Amino acid sequence: MNLLIKQARLLQFYPEKLAANADIFIQDQYIKKVGKDLEKELKGEKIDKVIDAGGNFVIPGNVCSHNHFYSALARGVVADIRPSYDFVGVLQNLWWRLDRALDESSLYYSGLAGALDAVRAGTTLVIDHNASPSCIKGSLKILKTAYEKCGLRGILCYEVTDRNGLQGRDNWIKENLEFIKNQETDLIKGAVGAHAPFTLCDESLNHLSDAVRETQRGIHIHAAEDKYDLSYSHYNYGMSTLERLERFNLLDEKSLIVHGVHLLDKDADIIESRNSFLVHNPKSNMNNNVGYNSKLFGLKNVAIGTDGIGSDMFEETKFGYFKSRDAGLNLLPSDFMRFLCNGNKIAERYFGGKFGQIEPGFLADLVILDYLHPTPVMMNNTAGHFIFGLSSQVVETVIINGRCVYENRQFPFDVESIYCKARKEASRLWKKIDRF
Ligand SMILES: [Zn+2]
Repeated sequence: MNLLIKQARLLQFYPEKLAANADIFIQDQYIKKVGKDLEKELKGEKIDKVIDAGGNFVIPGNVCSHNHFYSALARGVVADIRPSYDFVGVLQNLWWRLDRALDESSLYYSGLAGALDAVRAGTTLVIDHNASPSCIKGSLKILKTAYEKCGLRGILCYEVTDRNGLQGRDNWIKENLEFIKNQETDLIKGAVGAHAPFTLCDESLNHLSDAVRETQRGIHIHAAEDKYDLSYSHYNYGMSTLERLERFNLLDEKSLIVHGVHLLDKDADIIESRNSFLVHNPKSNMNNNVGYNSKLFGLKNVAIGTDGIGSDMFEETKFGYFKSRDAGLNLLPSDFMRFLCNGNKIAERYFGGKFGQIEPGFLADLVILDYLHPTPVMMNNTAGHFIFGLSSQVVETVIINGRCVYENRQFPFDVESIYCKARKEASRLWKKIDRF
């Protein structure tokens, strides 16, 4: 499929780039040419589709570096949920009951609701972390089907823990291994998922380490989200959370360490030395009152995720910036653009191509924005426009892997019937929560 986007204003946030009156020629999944009046140059080339951007901005798609689509039907949940007084209480009273209530059908509609929201928000890659203990085998394939329905790019994994016993743990590791072995495509890759060090014994970490080596994929794990994870590790193992992961050789350039709110300096050093990623989830950290990670900002590989609170990276990045201001850190909007765009580095390490720039040879994950701006957009102020002006409401058209998956604010299939079914599945799911 060859696609020509005409009359675009190219806009990149990191590295910063701005160019007017540009055409973009996409051949299959790659950007082939970028320049003015490409139609003359392309005479003789087959062009299947032309999109006239009409002077609108085209940006590289946003990346959500940590999410839980399994929680998409938890929005507004009405169930008998006891009050939670700490982080572990939130897990026990809500999330570990909701995930157990999921079955094949509710997981699919949960994934579909999440994927629709992501594409509509201009997010072209969502890195997901699944948990559905009553529906383990094939659960990642169910989510993959939802991603593919919407044309969304993904890196999927199942979060392994010991909370269902060692048999459960082994089934969950197997789900990661089988998905990576049999289900990966150009658009969907797998990772080795794990819940958090405080729900994994040494034997489990050893098995996960074997899975990382066998698959050559990275571990995707929550760590030091709450102080409890750090205390648990010190009390039971006499070392910090990251020292413990390091002891099992779990960290490398594909590792995603999620939250890290309570990292020690030595933990941050481990992440740096392994060239791993730390994924910051500002809204989730605020919502769970787990504290604030002021160490993030010394790390080179910080990315941004939502931890299940939607997939709108315009909104999440703004929350991250404003929270840093509230915490008194002297960070600039451009620092947060670097964090957001680091998601492209994760994509490159998993997919193998080049991501995040509108240049020949890069993967064609692009978003067209209908952004009315009362002040000039120029080099050196694009981050200011992102934080203080842009939002997902200006997302008009989304192209992923060279394919137009959302055009003029429309999906190429009926969305209302999906939402209708999702609402029925949500009601059924909420009733089931009370059984667990
Ligand atoms: Zn999470």
